[in-house]
Amino acid sequence: NKDNRLQFQVTRFGHNEKLVVARDITFMHRLSQMRKDFVANVSHELRTPLTVLKGYLETFADAEQLPVQWRGPLSQMQQQCTRMHLLVNDLISLSVLETEVIPDRHQVLSLQPLLQHLVDEANSLSAGSHSLSLNCDSNIALRGVEKELQSAFGNLINNAIKYTPPNTQITITARVDQSGLTVTVADQGPGIEARHLPRLTERFYRVDDSRNSATGGTGLGLAIVKHALSRHDARLEIASQVGKGSQFSCRFPKQRLA
Ligand code: ADP
Repeated sequence: NKDNRLQFQVTRFGHNEKLVVARDITFMHRLSQMRKDFVANVSHELRTPLTVLKGYLETFADAEQLPVQWRGPLSQMQQQCTRMHLLVNDLISLSVLETEVIPDRHQVLSLQPLLQHLVDEANSLSAGSHSLSLNCDSNIALRGVEKELQSAFGNLINNAIKYTPPNTQITITARVDQSGLTVTVADQGPGIEARHLPRLTERFYRVDDSRNSATGGTGLGLAIVKHALSRHDARLEIASQVGKGSQFSCRFPKQRLA
């Protein structure tokens, strides 16, 4: 049956002996598919009512005769609506990455303009609060899906801005060697304790809720990065030193270079 899923585990022992264990994971696979479909449907359904609420709240907030005691609650409602909007958008991005079929033929993308565009966007959104520098040769090209790579690198750059103090340096570097391409976003922020590193790409995992509530993140950013990279046979490596800063490195195999 084409819907059945088997998982094989091969163990070698002796000279020519192998033990092959096949597990029927059809049920697990179906459950996981149902979860993905459910999240995709719910997040799509939530987007429209939220847009309506946001629109009305903006109209009320702009009204001249608004009673003064309404201003505070209204502004809080707007903030919460914006938070939910970000969350719903991130959930949709994640479910698209999980469910959309990977295209057979990838575009050839020139890396320098792609990264430069993200740096310019980050500079204008953060109003120059940080100093961003980009080191990338103009001849590096890779095969991929533009919007997915933009989302991966963009999330890392946004995090670097979000979690580090103003006026610190953020460096984006692309390097090619025998093993492939590495794109690194390095910051001089607070760093992350080693015990958190293995869990950072889990959905909704956030290091410190009290610190994060002020930054308005969703806890989905690094999960999106991980998924977008794995669709490009790439992986995310995180190195960090508390008090010194963090480096998020996206490692692409050399077959991805064009
Ligand atoms: P969020 O939406 O909370 O930013 P992410 O998945 O992008 O979610 O990040 C997970 C957590 O990792 C964040 O809540 C934050 O605590 C930590 N983090 C991410 N990037 C950095 C960084 N550059 N410096 C310090 N902490 C970071």
